[in-house]
Amino acid sequence: MAAQIHQFMCLEDNFGVLIHDPATGATASMDAPEAGPILAALKETGWTLTDILVTHHHNDHIGGIPGVKEKFPGARIVAPSKDKDRIPGADLYVSEGEKITVGGLNAHIIETPGHTSGHIVYFFEEDKMLFAGDTLFALGCGRAFEAPAPVLYESCMKLAKLPPETKIFCGHEYTLSNGQFALKADPANAALQERMKEIQALREAGKATLPTTMAVELETNPFLRAGNTAIQANLEMNGASPAEVFTELRERKNKGW
Ligand code: ZN
Ligand code: FE
Repeated sequence: MAAQIHQFMCLEDNFGVLIHDPATGATASMDAPEAGPILAALKETGWTLTDILVTHHHNDHIGGIPGVKEKFPGARIVAPSKDKDRIPGADLYVSEGEKITVGGLNAHIIETPGHTSGHIVYFFEEDKMLFAGDTLFALGCGRAFEAPAPVLYESCMKLAKLPPETKIFCGHEYTLSNGQFALKADPANAALQERMKEIQALREAGKATLPTTMAVELETNPFLRAGNTAIQANLEMNGASPAEVFTELRERKNKGW
């Protein structure tokens, strides 16, 4: 049976996501940005929380854990091995290549250093769903806070190899502002222009722009297209390596192009 997903907003612009296995009743919360909305979502769906899958140590991803655990003390916390010190008290620490299960659902752990040094993402292979945390966003990527930008680029390229039909869930609703930057980086991209119209319509209707898919991101996300000659020419970086182009894009995004 396919996994069921419930997506909702937390804090300012964080996504909360519940992943439910109808066969076993198991339910995971992807990170725990804020306890109140997560508990409300569990009440609304009638699902019982069994797991909290943590991507990285930032407070807008773990700050809700104590409040959620108060109501669901049996929920297992899964966190990156590399962040044992910064996410103490997890029940299971996981590393690259390991697999976890949520009821009958299998998820692969992929380490994606860059935004933080210990960042991991969860790929549910059968359901072709990626929970990318703050590594990869729709039309963007996270800031490279704890590693040089080329390291984050390698992490993004690892994800780019997942099946194109993979659905991508991200930590934040940043798509509109990411898209405005993407249009500056890749102004002649017709697929990007089309997508931006859809995104604007969704946001005006107060709807989420996620999930996206890897196929759509490969076509429109400049951070996955650092090897594209039109983007290189637009940056006046003909002949530069994709990692150099990615680094330049990341710096321009930080400064506000
Ligand atoms: Zn973060
Ligand atoms: Fe975040």
